[in-house]
Amino acid sequence: MTTWTNWSGLATGHPAQVVTPRDVEEVVDAVVAARRQRLTVKMPGSGHSFTGIACPEGLQLRPDALTGIVSVDREAMTVTALAGTPLHLLNTGLEALGLSLHNMGDIDQQTVAGAISTGTHGTGGLVASLSAQVAGLDLVTGDGSLLRTTEAENPEVLAAARVGLGALGIITAVTFRVEPLFTLEADEAPMSWDEALGCFDQLVEDNHHFEMYWFPHTDRMLTKRDNRTVDDAEPLSRARAWLDDELLSNTIFGWVNALGNRVPALVPRLNELSGRALSARRFSDVPHKVFTSPRRVVFREMEYAVPREAGLEALREVRRLIEAAGWRISFPVEVRVAPADDIALSTAFGRASTYLAFHVNQRTDHRAYFEGVEEVLRGHDGRPHWGKLHTRSAADLAPAYPRWAEFQALRERLDPDRVFHNAYLRRVLGP
Ligand SMILES: Cc1cc2nc3c(=O)[nH]c(=O)nc-3n(C[C@H](O)[C@H](O)[C@H](O)COP(=O)(O)OP(=O)(O)OC[C@H]3O[C@@H](n4cnc5c(N)ncnc54)[C@H](O)[C@@H]3O)c2cc1C
Repeated sequence: MTTWTNWSGLATGHPAQVVTPRDVEEVVDAVVAARRQRLTVKMPGSGHSFTGIACPEGLQLRPDALTGIVSVDREAMTVTALAGTPLHLLNTGLEALGLSLHNMGDIDQQTVAGAISTGTHGTGGLVASLSAQVAGLDLVTGDGSLLRTTEAENPEVLAAARVGLGALGIITAVTFRVEPLFTLEADEAPMSWDEALGCFDQLVEDNHHFEMYWFPHTDRMLTKRDNRTVDDAEPLSRARAWLDDELLSNTIFGWVNALGNRVPALVPRLNELSGRALSARRFSDVPHKVFTSPRRVVFREMEYAVPREAGLEALREVRRLIEAAGWRISFPVEVRVAPADDIALSTAFGRASTYLAFHVNQRTDHRAYFEGVEEVLRGHDGRPHWGKLHTRSAADLAPAYPRWAEFQALRERLDPDRVFHNAYLRRVLGP
């Protein structure tokens, strides 16, 4: 029996069949054959979603042979990549072409189709999510038809399929809007809780990309401001990059986490030390080397988007809850922002948003913490990240999305027999 497992180890599937299509025709053939056998079809990306959203049940399509940039349009400033292209390959390919995405999240291991399907986002900027940078995509729908979608061709499909949850079809290629390559300067600095919350709105306004991390049980924040510069790039030395991004943020953080798991009473003091160890630094580089960094300590995560103006109050409430509940939380809470977008199931649909992300070590039971925090965020009209842990289901998600019915109607049109269903989609989208 074949077993599929996601990155965090929380979701496992046992697909009846596994196929690695080498081109679009093989994706079409696989969908048609599976449908004939009454098998569901799922193409997981790199399995970096924490939920079971990518869990294959019938036929699993592997994305590994569908990689690479296939076309560049310098007039339209768009680049098309095959669906299984990992973001790190897209980024280095774009860099070689003198191009870049506008914004991205904090790792580069996901596939392009997987990343957009759950609304993967970074912070700030004119667009925060990868989905909002999509200008077109090709989709194999439930009856095996290949649908090309752009702003001119099937625009209503593109509008929703940019965050499609894997429910509308198998994406075979994604076209991104790109920019000429630029240099991004990172300015990272510790701040106190009061200082960071006091000037948060100003920091968001003054910087192209602003985010901050709060170390629970302490008053410590780490802030990160990324802005474009016309000066020559001044990358971190290899030694400093290794010290910060590998040794401190991964190796030592992993040991500290393991210690905190064994002796939870030490967590507040360990967080204080971690908060101090990450000192101020400034460097500049090509955008993907500033936005992303390696994450080798495996964790579990929940992230919610709340209306931008509710973000800090929600964070304060979460802090009060953590202190009252007596949990020992060793991972920082991440705070990011996004402008409003127009994608039906985007967590930032129709409203500028503050994202609050909560993590625990992979060996820690997350349920009490995540469920407690989730209640706070629901109280602020929060929307859960589709790829991260949450307990919501279709009935209570529908009112959170003004274009929910439109998405469902499209699903009915593109996949009436629910070829692309799995248990997670049954829960969050309904039958
Ligand atoms: C360490 C880590 C860091 C992260 N950082 C961020 C971050 O900074 N910002 C953020 O927003 N999220 C972040 N995430 C979440 C992650 O970006 C999303 O869960 C993303 O969807 C994972 O992409 P994937 O390629 O692994 O796709 P998977 O998780 O494998 O799949 C996600 C969905 O995409 C669908 N899919 C994949 N390929 C296709 C296809 N070809 N056609 C149709 N559907 C397809 C799957 O079926 C599934 O529905 C992080 C996750 C981890 C583990």
